[in-house]
Amino acid sequence: MLVSAKEMLEKARDGKYAVGQFNINNLEWTKSILLTAQELKSPVILGVSEGAGKYMTGYKTVVGMVNGMIEELGITVPVALHLDHGSYEGCLACVEAGFSSIMFDGSHYPIEENIQKTTELIKIANEKGMSLEAEVGSIGGEEDGVIGKGECADPDECKAVADLGVTMLAAGIGNIHGKYPENWEGLSFDTLAAIKEKVGDMPLVLHGGTGIPEDMIKKAISLGVAKINVNTECQLAFAEATRKYIEAGKDLEGKGFDPRKLLAPGAEAIKATVKEKMELFGSIGKAE
Ligand SMILES: [Zn+2]
Repeated sequence: MLVSAKEMLEKARDGKYAVGQFNINNLEWTKSILLTAQELKSPVILGVSEGAGKYMTGYKTVVGMVNGMIEELGITVPVALHLDHGSYEGCLACVEAGFSSIMFDGSHYPIEENIQKTTELIKIANEKGMSLEAEVGSIGGEEDGVIGKGECADPDECKAVADLGVTMLAAGIGNIHGKYPENWEGLSFDTLAAIKEKVGDMPLVLHGGTGIPEDMIKKAISLGVAKINVNTECQLAFAEATRKYIEAGKDLEGKGFDPRKLLAPGAEAIKATVKEKMELFGSIGKAE
């Protein structure tokens, strides 16, 4: 059964580790992440962007697939199914479809409008027992054409949104989606500490987990980050393993063209990436 991310993140915050959000794109992704979480006894959050939801034909299909896998693979660790960077309408659609967690990304609205829409969605999420993530200060990335340092959130705005009663808060601290550019200046721990000072116990979320050096990840966790989003890294691992399989001509040998064989190295590569991240985040064994 899907659970809200609230309890797992509060435990992570208190235990000084982070729960990984791994974004899913299809059946192989979902299966690899769930099996790894179960094997390592780690809580896990499955992230679905609006684009990935559309790709998988819609949120109901996603919910059906994930619930079916939890039952048929015998997954007993806590699993949250979370909308990543949702619009207001996307959040409502995921509530309706049976997600257990939503992120409302109102960071592109003026702060007043972000607060108003976040407030409305918190009420709905609370009624359903769902967790809600809000974002303050937009997180840069290749898709926005932002290169260089990511934006840093205003700690007072973070407090204003945290006080609305969100479950967890994503705040820009120089992090970026996708691959980090060569000249990236690193995470702003001063900003993170200032935000933590203002928001107190609120579990914080670090987006753009791909390519942040390990020591920075650990420091961020020590300063209150309890959820870390990983997306690009699994994509890169999957693509590399699949390319190697094809470049080695394995799809031309015997039944190597069978999709269950063709996609297997990529699925294994996702498992290895997820395992590596869970080790780094310290979530292994926390679901026992
Ligand atoms: Zn993000």
